[in-house]
Amino acid sequence: MTEDRALSLSKGRQGDHDILLEIDRLRTHFFVDGGVVRAVDGVSLSVPAGKTVCVVGESGCGKSITARSVLRLIERPGRIVDGRILLSGGDSAAGEPVDVVALDPEGERLRGIRGGEIAMVFQEPMASLSPMYTVGNQLVEAIRVHLDLTEEEASRRGVELLGRVGIPRPERIMESYPFQLSGGMCQRVMIAIALSCRPRLLIADEPTTALDVTTQARILDLLADLQAETEMSMIFITHDLGVVAEIADEVVVMYLGTVVEQGPVDEIFHDPQHPYTRALLASIPRMGRGARQRLATIPGQVPAPLQRPAGCPFHPRCTEAIPGLCDVEEPPMIELGERRRACCVLHDRERLDRHQGEAARS
Ligand code: SF4
Repeated sequence: MTEDRALSLSKGRQGDHDILLEIDRLRTHFFVDGGVVRAVDGVSLSVPAGKTVCVVGESGCGKSITARSVLRLIERPGRIVDGRILLSGGDSAAGEPVDVVALDPEGERLRGIRGGEIAMVFQEPMASLSPMYTVGNQLVEAIRVHLDLTEEEASRRGVELLGRVGIPRPERIMESYPFQLSGGMCQRVMIAIALSCRPRLLIADEPTTALDVTTQARILDLLADLQAETEMSMIFITHDLGVVAEIADEVVVMYLGTVVEQGPVDEIFHDPQHPYTRALLASIPRMGRGARQRLATIPGQVPAPLQRPAGCPFHPRCTEAIPGLCDVEEPPMIELGERRRACCVLHDRERLDRHQGEAARS
């Protein structure tokens, strides 16, 4: 890392942006019988204060593991093997950002960050809620861990939050157990719990996948309102590029545990700079295409976790791959502008010229 970059990280700023969270070359690996699965392998990304960063990519690209790493929720046989996760502001406002990776996993500071400063909504709401306690118990407990409220005040806040996430008759739902609710209702309860302490960063991992489109639109509106009120930042993980277009300020595209492109949402949608991003966008069904026209797909499959290709991890599926280069050398991350970068050799003129020269001589 250059000295300038280290300085910008320590001050929590990049260009004109106040950076709330900076993930710096994070590696989270899983040590299994057959070898090492490099689920997250050198991910760097940042989240500006008050903005929404959407993380997209196919299943298995490391989106959820990156998100869980931020809260240190990686279980054995996985662990964070390298990198930093710097959180600015909050208790660290007067000083340096706190490195979440360096915190004691059982310590007070990490407990305060989890649920208080950073909240997370998981993919499977049923697995995240306890079947033994009522929704009210769980909501009140989450509120009282982080906020100095009486049980009665916390309960009133819980009812209000359930109403805000679109749950009808919230007083009654407070008395219900999760197994008495539908998956969609449970997801809304999870979102209410996550928002209950007004986190500075909300990490939402496919939070609206189980919901019907009306509820989904309501939840997205609610998140946008809360963001405007509280300057909350969001990392939003989704497969749905329609949702991305609606809510993202910036987009991070991941493939096989690495970031392949990042940039402002308009630039990613209108001028993608990485072949994988182009392929993802080309595979969105569009109105007005002929009924008989085939939907574009990305050739091949995501490789098995223990069979990571050499060179560019996308090269076996890339229609623009350069033989002898892409299958041999790892591509560099090229800065294309402020908060705009792509990891592809097509943007590295020097390397391309060298390769062409070598090819001509041989
Ligand atoms: Fe395709 Fe090569 Fe770029 Fe990888 S580095 S995305 S294989 S062109």
